[in-house]
Amino acid sequence: MKIIVQKYGGTSVGTPERIMAVAERIKTYAGKGYSVVVVLSAMGKTTDQLIELSKQITKTPSKREMDMLISTGEQVSIAMLAMALHEKGIGAISYTGTQIRVKTDGNFSEAKIESIATEKIEKSLKEKKVVIVAGFQGIDEEENITTLGRGGSDTTAVALAAVLNTRNCEIYTDVDGVYTADPRIVPNTKKHKEISYDEMLELSRLGAGVLHSRSVEFAKKYGVKITVRSSFNYEEGTVVMPKEEMVEKYIVSGITAKTDEAKITLRNLQDKPGIAAKLFEKLGEKKIYINLIVQSTGHDGMASISFSVLKKDLAKALELSEKLKEELGGSSVEAKEDIAIVSAVGVGMLSSYGVAGRIFRVLADNGINIEMITTSEIGISCCIDGKFAELATRVIHKEFIEAGA
Ligand code: ADP
Ligand code: ASP
Ligand code: MG
Repeated sequence: MKIIVQKYGGTSVGTPERIMAVAERIKTYAGKGYSVVVVLSAMGKTTDQLIELSKQITKTPSKREMDMLISTGEQVSIAMLAMALHEKGIGAISYTGTQIRVKTDGNFSEAKIESIATEKIEKSLKEKKVVIVAGFQGIDEEENITTLGRGGSDTTAVALAAVLNTRNCEIYTDVDGVYTADPRIVPNTKKHKEISYDEMLELSRLGAGVLHSRSVEFAKKYGVKITVRSSFNYEEGTVVMPKEEMVEKYIVSGITAKTDEAKITLRNLQDKPGIAAKLFEKLGEKKIYINLIVQSTGHDGMASISFSVLKKDLAKALELSEKLKEELGGSSVEAKEDIAIVSAVGVGMLSSYGVAGRIFRVLADNGINIEMITTSEIGISCCIDGKFAELATRVIHKEFIEAGA
C-alpha cells in the first residue's frame, strides 16, 4: 500500500468550489493507486471568526471551552470534502481527532501530540476509501478536546505520515513552495527547490508562517519528507529534507520578521551573581517563553537587562518584573510593544564569516537601530523598532539573495 498524506490549508478549502477542486486533485492520486490520507484545516478564516465570536461573550474564556469552540471549523471542512469526493464517485470517510485518538497533553491551545491510533485509518484505507482527518485537534487523557496551536494542521499531517510509516507528506497551501522570504512582503523572492530540516525549523520558529514549526520537528525526527506545494497549480514545490541530501547551498536561505513579541527592560539592577537567574527562573515558572536577552555591561555595580516575550504574555511578564524589581535592586521596568525581530537563516553561515557585519551594515545604512541581537548556529536575529519590520526584511533580502551571495 503506497500511502500519501496530503494536507490542505484554509485558503485551499475556503469555498465549496475550492473543496471540489481539492477533491479533483485527490481523485487523480487515488487513480494512480495511492492510498490517500487527507488532513484539512478549517475553511478560509473560520478559526479567526470563531475566536471573534467568543469575544462577544467574554474576554477571558476558559481554555477548555476555547479549544472546544475553535476545533469545530475542521469538522465542517472534513465533512464537506467527504461529500465532494462522494459526488465524484470516490469512496471517502471523515474522522475527527477524537475518533482516531489523536492523543495530546492537556496544554489547551498549544497541545503536543503524544500518539495516534492507526487501526481505523488502516481499515478504511483497506476498504479503498480516502481517509479525511480533521487537523489541529486532539484529545487529552480526560478526553477533553485540545488544539495544537495556530497553523497546527501541518503537524497533524506530518504526525500521521510518521505513524503510517510513509515519507510522503504534501502540504498544500496558497504559495507554491518555501521562498527566501514571505513573497507577500518582499519582491523578487526566490523559491527553494529544497531546504534542510534545520533551516526550515529555524525559519518557522522565527516567523515564516508557511509551516507550523512542530511539523518540521516531527518530520526531522521521523524522516518524513515534506513537500510544500500550491493547491492552485501543479508546480513542483519545495522539499524539506536532510541537509546531507541537498544540492542547493546558500549562505542565507531565508529572512523572516516576527512581530508577535514585545520587549521588557529592567534598569539599574545589581551587577552580581544570581540576579538574572532569579528573574528568568520566575518567568520560567510562569511558563513565559523568552526569546532574546541582552544584559548591558556592568557599570558602578549596576546593569540593565532587556528581553523579549510573546505579546500575549506581556501583561503577566510585566507584573512579575515589577514585583521583582525591588528585590533585584532595579530602578525601573519599561515595556515596548512595537518591536520586530528580523532574522536571517542559513546552514551556509556555519562555514562563512562576515555575515553578522553585513546584516548590521545594511540595517545601519537604512537608519535602523538594533536594540537586541541573538545568534544560533545557523541564524542571526535582530530586535528593531516594529515600524521597520518590512524594510529590514527587504534590505537584508537584497543584500544576501538578490545580490546573489
Ligand atoms: P495555510 O492556510 O495553507 O496553512 P498559511 O497562511 O499558514 O497557509 O501559510 C502560507 C503563507 O505563508 C503564504 O501565503 C505566505 O504569505 C506565508 N509565508 C511566510 N513566509 C513564507 C516563505 N518564506 N515562503 C512561503 N510562504 C511564506
Ligand atoms: N484552522 C487552524 C488555524 O487557523 C489550524 C490550521 O490552519 O492549521 O490556525
Ligand atoms: Mg498554515
